[in-house]
Amino acid sequence: MKSTNELSFATRAIHVGYDDSEAKGALNPPVYMSSTFTFQNTNEGGARFSGKSKGHFYSRISNPTLEVLEKRFAALEETEAGLCFASGMGAITSVLWTFLSAGDEIITDDTLYGCTFAFIHHGLSRFGIKVTSIDMSDPKQLKAAISDNTKIVYFESPANPNMKLVDIAAIAKIAKANNALTVVDNTYCTPYLQQPLNLGADIVVHSATKFLSGHGDLIAGLAAGREELMTRVRLEGLKDMTGAVMDPLTAHQLLRGLKTLSIRMDRHCSTALELAKLLETHPLIAKVSYPGLTSFAQNDLANSQMRGGGGVMTIELSGGFGQATRFMDALQMIKRAVSLGDADSLIQHPASMTHSAYTEKERAAHGISESLLRLSVGLEDVRDIWNDLHQALQIAGQPIICAA
Ligand SMILES: *Cc1c(COP(=O)(O)O)cnc(C)c1O
Repeated sequence: MKSTNELSFATRAIHVGYDDSEAKGALNPPVYMSSTFTFQNTNEGGARFSGKSKGHFYSRISNPTLEVLEKRFAALEETEAGLCFASGMGAITSVLWTFLSAGDEIITDDTLYGCTFAFIHHGLSRFGIKVTSIDMSDPKQLKAAISDNTKIVYFESPANPNMKLVDIAAIAKIAKANNALTVVDNTYCTPYLQQPLNLGADIVVHSATKFLSGHGDLIAGLAAGREELMTRVRLEGLKDMTGAVMDPLTAHQLLRGLKTLSIRMDRHCSTALELAKLLETHPLIAKVSYPGLTSFAQNDLANSQMRGGGGVMTIELSGGFGQATRFMDALQMIKRAVSLGDADSLIQHPASMTHSAYTEKERAAHGISESLLRLSVGLEDVRDIWNDLHQALQIAGQPIICAA
């Protein structure tokens, strides 16, 4: 077999990081359900604790099943090291706790996943960390805001939920020139559609709950970056500050999910693009935001840093919040649920659900209107998804007749 970095993405997602000759020929890596690992003698135990000898000793620090996933994921992000966490929030908090101290500053984009927003604005800020939020889609704003105290520049692209893109290379360049780390939440794209580290970012974080797992059956997080950075996150943020450790069974499920990541993402992208085009021309739809549409304001940037538009879009109905609710309630196959990236199509209302941690004023300032709906396009047949959307739009468009 070719060396890891010569293999294509789909092949790496199936093979990297595991040698079946070390596991009695088992096609899939064994699931090591073990909290602790024994030492042959006292000396060896001491050497593992001090880091002088490699090997596992306690599953809050490392575990052989997680190690396979970490190597495989690093190969997909084309970097040195990966790290597993109990959730996406576990990944984000472990990374940020590792590199920030009182007196430091973090600069974030003004649109963030709701719990990330809450952690940074309501959590970190209580510990003497300065939080500055800017519109990262305009790199000049970062240039103006960044200072010697800035340790982290943090954003999502596309942002959850308003789909705003950030020019990753331009932002990472400014951060690097100021010795700040660029941390990108790459959940929406997965490394199949976008590789922030190759564009100059230092660390990627993911909610592996979403596309990476792909089946809506687990909660998990992943991060990747240079070995030196990931070792610090493992030994400081993860081991001592959050303890947000992934369990081995989840790692096994994620390894299974990754095997089909590329074909799932291709299908998510093609179905979403077709639906976005159909929705865009519907008279009841005021706006569709999907990076793959030529009408999308940042379509050029999408084409330059993403392989496809992804599986998520937002839609706004012309009749406001009431009509959006009627539309959502009339859907029959598409499920009303938060989360995204599953085989099942899911729809949610950010203002009352994922982004309710923002105040109404904050939502308005961050481009999250009260009638915005987020649709995660699943793997069902595109015709069935469209039929459901279409019949629900018909119902939502009917005049409301008040009973006298
Ligand atoms: C879901 C999500 C998270 C949080 O991940 P969990 O696995 O739910 O903890 C973070 N960022 C983005 C963009 C997400 O969609």
